[in-house]
Amino acid sequence: MIKVCKFGGSSLADAEKINAVCDIVAADPERRIVVVSAPGKRDRSDRKVTDLLIRCAEAALAGESHESALSAIAERFAAIGRDLNLSPSVAESVEKDLRARLAGDKTHRARFLDSLKAAGEDNCARLVAAVLHGRGLDARYLNPGDAGLLLSDEYGNAQLLPESYDNLAALRSAKGITVFPGFFGCTRDGGIVTFPRGGSDITGSILAAAVKADAYENFTDVDSVCAMDPDLEPGIRPIPHLTYREMRELSYAGFGVLHDEAIVPAVQAGIPIRIKNTCAPDAPGTLITLSRQDVTGHPVGIAYTGGFMSILVFKYLMNREIGFGRRALQIIEEEGLSFEHMPSGIDSLSLILREADVDETAEKRIVERFRNELGATECTVERGLALVMIAGEGMVHHVGVAATAARALADAGVNIEMLDQGASEISIMFGVKAADAKKAVRALYRAFFEGTES
Ligand code: ASP
Repeated sequence: MIKVCKFGGSSLADAEKINAVCDIVAADPERRIVVVSAPGKRDRSDRKVTDLLIRCAEAALAGESHESALSAIAERFAAIGRDLNLSPSVAESVEKDLRARLAGDKTHRARFLDSLKAAGEDNCARLVAAVLHGRGLDARYLNPGDAGLLLSDEYGNAQLLPESYDNLAALRSAKGITVFPGFFGCTRDGGIVTFPRGGSDITGSILAAAVKADAYENFTDVDSVCAMDPDLEPGIRPIPHLTYREMRELSYAGFGVLHDEAIVPAVQAGIPIRIKNTCAPDAPGTLITLSRQDVTGHPVGIAYTGGFMSILVFKYLMNREIGFGRRALQIIEEEGLSFEHMPSGIDSLSLILREADVDETAEKRIVERFRNELGATECTVERGLALVMIAGEGMVHHVGVAATAARALADAGVNIEMLDQGASEISIMFGVKAADAKKAVRALYRAFFEGTES
């Protein structure tokens, strides 16, 4: 039996947490592959090492002094090292590593940035391997490039190259405990490239799939996935079991517990994922698998995420015009954009995009192109949208779910700007004004969960 376990930044924020991580690893000999994030926040006012690294890299790119950012990062590692009674050389080598990265080629901005961003996970993995080793365990750090974790050269947003699976399969028979830094891999030409933020979850899932692990344990700072963001209200109902599809939809729509792209490798290889709490490792957590027995047609979770915009395109007889949709999407493609959703009617379609991707100039250009090239009679843009999603297997075919949700939103005074139930069988998505999102989520939670047993 082999388990891949991944520890998030909050589980590695200080020496005490790192000791707890090592206790968890040492407690189960099946935990043979350990994936780590960079040290995260120690409290709400703290900064994540990755954020400090980005600040440091940006200062260097702007030709400004990066010394204060660099010493803040080096000091984070030095303090952890001191509290863990590690040799001072550990902290020294972190600083040396950071200086070497900072001296690297700055002509390719994104590549330079990724090389710095990866330093948090890389140094943390070396440190955790040293602590495990110090406890007498047969543990070693493994560099993702040496292991053959090959990624596309989309800096800051990399995707897995499929040959990685064959390269990484050998890890199954590696002796002892392998400590593997999350979040980054190598391009085919040997450069360092990172996944999107929060991407250590993706690394863990890829390794679990590559070694055909019996489980992928994802350790974080909550006991389990909850039916709604637990920061919104106390006492939110925990979810003991989710399907991959439910978790994928809820992660996409804002459940930060697991990166939405981390589901895919595990699904493809059929690896069960378990979300667990580093501070309460014996709590059952949330299990994520292909199916679950207790499907009721009731939503299991309600998520929300902001930062969206819609472009509504209207033209009479759109339904009769062959190729309209293709040409609309071609314009989006030519603008270098990807769309998130596309609800449509007989004479209209809405394109939902991430607003950070579309600046004012691009927005103007797209509107003009829709009018001129597609003959749209109306083309209106709305920014500041949030997506609110209810998800649950079997829910869409259950009578009354959409009606209950719409009524709850209406009673809370939330206007539904967009509704998308179409293609996904397990979720209903509402576009609302960002300012209404939390109110909407609370109202939906009350409608579906209040009075039900937790
Ligand atoms: N350290 C990276 C971040 O803060 C990746 C991760 O934690 O998964 O986004």
